[in-house]
Amino acid sequence: MILTRLIDASLEDKLTKEDSRLILSWPDSDLDKLIDAAAYLRKKFYNNKIMLHILLNAKSGLCPEDCKYCTQSSVSKAPISKYQMMKSEEICRRAEKAKEAGAYRFCMVISSKGPSEYEMSEVTKAIRYISSTLKMRTCASLGILTYQQACSLKKSGLDRYNHNLETSERHFPNICTTHSFHDRLRTVKYIKKAGIGSCCGFIAGMGETEDDLIELAFTMKRLNIESIPVNLFNPIKGTPLYGSRSVSPTLGIKLLALFRFVNPSKEIRIAGGRERNLKSLQYESLKIANSMFTNGYLTALGMSKDEDVQVLQKMGFEFST
Ligand code: SF4
Repeated sequence: MILTRLIDASLEDKLTKEDSRLILSWPDSDLDKLIDAAAYLRKKFYNNKIMLHILLNAKSGLCPEDCKYCTQSSVSKAPISKYQMMKSEEICRRAEKAKEAGAYRFCMVISSKGPSEYEMSEVTKAIRYISSTLKMRTCASLGILTYQQACSLKKSGLDRYNHNLETSERHFPNICTTHSFHDRLRTVKYIKKAGIGSCCGFIAGMGETEDDLIELAFTMKRLNIESIPVNLFNPIKGTPLYGSRSVSPTLGIKLLALFRFVNPSKEIRIAGGRERNLKSLQYESLKIANSMFTNGYLTALGMSKDEDVQVLQKMGFEFST
């Protein structure tokens, strides 16, 4: 009864913050009913399709920013591999491999506050090849942009830009002090104005409150974000947030359900921390999310694409091409 009302409220755009609290405090013993309700919404907009995304970390480490969760930040001592910007030829070669592996979208990421002129030039060259020759969908995550940079990316053929909000406006200063939540919002505004699709996610499990997560879900709705990567924090040794408590598998599912109910028609992606936090529920989560990263993350390993595909095919999902 409650779930039918929540489904109706979601579809009629009437879901409230009070309703969201109900979702986050849903009893674990009835989790399957919550999954079924969120799956109803997912099916309505995406049927049984799944989008596979493959990431490339085109520049690793060496970032001057102090995001406390990030292995690539200036305050991280995590032993990751660090390298400067890849040449466009190398990015294109990696995109070709991702295409062979059946990726729906190729996502290029660099560790940086914002891209330099050289980094912009290598990325835009690569985007031109990947979108016009390989005919793949592209996403770039290059940090804070000027409006002119957003326009150059659009001109090169980029169809989506990732710029995560990371956490709520209230909690943001506890997580990063070298740039602000508003710097991030400004970039989102520029990419939208330039006509590029928006991909904005967050990381749960960094000491935020339930209300912060609800606020984020409604911020994504207000900004009309097309694609929402839901990251479940994976604390890595050497980062200031190492030692934080993991998000439990059941909370991870409730969070995905919250974002599906608040943003029913949007691409909800289960992103970093899937394997570590959701454990045996990681594939159940795809009944709610319609999109996923496969083949690992920026500086952390994950399930291989072949392992993921095998399980998802058995579950009856089809892959978007
Ligand atoms: S700006 Fe990006 S790469 Fe740099 S520390 Fe923050 S999250 Fe990491």
